[in-house]
Amino acid sequence: MKAWIDGRMVDAEGAQAPMLSHALHYGTGVFEGIRSYGGAIFKLDAHMARFQRGADALGMKIDREAVAQACRRVIFENDLGDAYIRPLAFYALGSLQLDVAPLSVHQAVFALRWNSHLGTQAAQEGIRVKVSTIRRNPLPLKVTGAYANSVMAKLEAARSGLDEALFVDDRGRVCECTGENVFYVRRGEMIAVHHPDALPGITRETVMRLAKCGERETTLEELLDADEIFVTGTSAEVTPVCELAGRRFEIGSATRRMQELYRRLVQP
Ligand code: PMP
Repeated sequence: MKAWIDGRMVDAEGAQAPMLSHALHYGTGVFEGIRSYGGAIFKLDAHMARFQRGADALGMKIDREAVAQACRRVIFENDLGDAYIRPLAFYALGSLQLDVAPLSVHQAVFALRWNSHLGTQAAQEGIRVKVSTIRRNPLPLKVTGAYANSVMAKLEAARSGLDEALFVDDRGRVCECTGENVFYVRRGEMIAVHHPDALPGITRETVMRLAKCGERETTLEELLDADEIFVTGTSAEVTPVCELAGRRFEIGSATRRMQELYRRLVQP
């Protein structure tokens, strides 16, 4: 597979970064996760805007237009239809101090043949979710270092034999999963969970518009009282939750309808 790195198309597998790269030591990178369906890239501008916000938070200068163009190019040059696109910008050499001013920046875009990271069964059968003992860090951006938090929560869930972890804050409010936002249906109403630390998901926004539903701060207790729960993400799309905190949940008609509406929207 060919990747775009700093303006050139190269062999993705052979691409290397130096061991002294700042991002490797401190997680000073920013990334995106984007999908193409039948060669058409879904919501590229929204992903690029979020990418820019992450770069800005790190004081990193990126060429947003070049990266957007590279997203189109990796799909075209690898002759991909349905794919996952991974832009990445990171600090590399210049210093191992925390001041980023002297550091070089690299920009890359990779493409992968990838469907849901939750597995092919997930959309049909639902996922089993653990309430994480780990707190979500308050950085709702796709900064690479912040994802060690998600990795640890995911590991904890996997050790319990479960598929995903749900972050809840110290006041008992639901935040999000390790790589997806949370929705639920309660007494006939569909609601998107709102939390200030949750990533502003592009799929979340899309589904809220499709469902014409509102958002609300939600406690774990309220979520456990829901009739249906599902999660959303670029990779996960709309994935039902069949178990949370040991309780079983129906995969109901509202969740199935959202899966169908989302599919219809993304397919060109
Ligand atoms: N939360 C987190 C922590 C994520 O990593 C993702 C995936 N980007 C999401 C939510 C869903 O966001 P989106 O719909 O933009 O992919």
